[in-house]
Amino acid sequence: MKTIGLLGGMSWESTALYYKQINEEIKNRLGSLHSAKVIIYSVDFDEIEKLQHTEQWNKTADILTTAAQNIEKASADFLLICTNTMHKVVPQIQIKINIPIIHIADATAKVLQKDNIKKVGLLGTAFTMKEDFYKNRISENFGIEVLVPNEEDIKIIHKVIYEELCLGIIKEESRKKYLKIIGKLVSNGAEAIILGCTEICMLISSNDTDVKLYDTTKIHAIEAVNLALD
Ligand code: GLU
Repeated sequence: MKTIGLLGGMSWESTALYYKQINEEIKNRLGSLHSAKVIIYSVDFDEIEKLQHTEQWNKTADILTTAAQNIEKASADFLLICTNTMHKVVPQIQIKINIPIIHIADATAKVLQKDNIKKVGLLGTAFTMKEDFYKNRISENFGIEVLVPNEEDIKIIHKVIYEELCLGIIKEESRKKYLKIIGKLVSNGAEAIILGCTEICMLISSNDTDVKLYDTTKIHAIEAVNLALD
């Protein structure tokens, strides 16, 4: 079994889900007392969040690069960055380490492609929904059209992520807001929705809607297990 490296803490709420889901999947596949070989480096999200919102992305890349180098030194075979947003700085990190970064958008797009989804709605932070690093990767490399909410709805989703979900706060009113936004994306032609922030699965699940949801946390965790057992 290969050793999985997790660069987490963004937020720790979702990193805990990665750890649990990876171990559950290893147990499902191998049985008995099997568990995953995992190295976790968890950063202080307060520091990262302040740098994100003041557009100091190079500084976030420096912090994550140091963390990734430590994970590599600790003998991980490959690396998962446990947040969609911070994939913005993947190119800067990847050139400084020798182990591969398993990209969350690629893992997700592969599943969408397998399910023959051609047009998908994307929920995530404003960075993920508005900038090109995530959407373009899916549309250009996998031929899947990506729809995002309008400006007002982007603000609502972003606020709930940072002010509630990353703090472990789950509110019914926010669930309703998210479901309404999902409904609008579907009316605009989305065949499915990417939960493109690793905490959204704490708020919305397939019990809440008939729309097909692609939970990036789960997909990324399963991809890690696939690779660990490959
Ligand atoms: N975990 C979130 C994501 O998947 C948001 C936190 C962050 O900004 O990294 O994008």
